[in-house]
Amino acid sequence: MKILTTIADMRAAIKPARESRERIVFVPTMGALHAGHLSLVERAKTEGSCIVMSIFVNPLQFGPSEDLSRYPRPVEDDERLAEEAGVDLLFRPSVEEMYSSARTISVTSGKLGSEWEGKSRPGHFDGVLTVVAKLFNIVQPDAAIFGQKDLQQAALVSAMVRDLDMPIDIVIAPIVREVDGLALSSRNRYLSPEQRKAALALNRALNRVREKFAEGETRVAALENAGVSVVAPEPQVGLDYLAVIDSKTFERPTVAQKGNSIIIAARVGTTRLIDNMTL
Ligand code: AMP
Repeated sequence: MKILTTIADMRAAIKPARESRERIVFVPTMGALHAGHLSLVERAKTEGSCIVMSIFVNPLQFGPSEDLSRYPRPVEDDERLAEEAGVDLLFRPSVEEMYSSARTISVTSGKLGSEWEGKSRPGHFDGVLTVVAKLFNIVQPDAAIFGQKDLQQAALVSAMVRDLDMPIDIVIAPIVREVDGLALSSRNRYLSPEQRKAALALNRALNRVREKFAEGETRVAALENAGVSVVAPEPQVGLDYLAVIDSKTFERPTVAQKGNSIIIAARVGTTRLIDNMTL
């Protein structure tokens, strides 16, 4: 595995693969790699032969009171895990390399970018799309893999490549969970053992909604109430939102249908967690 830290080196390293018409598949991450990230690499290997991963904790997508400075950066573990997983090129730029002081242009994420996660984290998705657009321009992959874990992010990246005519296939890979159901996340490292236990309420709430739907309940308000009633008794879990939405538009229907998504965001202690499931 080659590790590149400058844009020029990254471009030079990818050139031979492009010239020999290899299919280049890109997995963008913020590092603190776990089995969820590695599942994206596995998926990438089924899509192409040259696998590029980026690790960049993007300051643009963090709010002023968020966890940018304490976000985990286990550099050596990440390099080892990426190499073992079969990454060919690892792009690990510095903040200065990615953002020059002259920078004035960014991508705006539109209406979808200001709802749900975007409402709770103003500017978050503009930051995400700006860095993803930059990374796409640097790597110029044929395909890129994103996790369903960040459903709204995946929808916005798909909308960006469509609306800005970026010739990149976006592949959405399923959520990897712990055996007890907790969705893997780099932020799970912040949880105390007690908080980790409380965090299982998110998965339980999603399952409860799914069960209710399987039993025949289709009124969205009733489904959402069933989910909320799972989380409400947990003193350690502060619910931000739980909603049944159309998986593409993220609008709330009145009557739920198969293929809709249940999205949830909650704070456990100071850690913000998100999860989702398809009905
Ligand atoms: P992050 O490093 O958190 O920015 O995530 C990088 C990529 O990994 C994103 O496309 C995420 O959706 C994906 N990802 C994060 N957690 C999981 C998970 N538990 N299962 C599958 N993909 C994930």
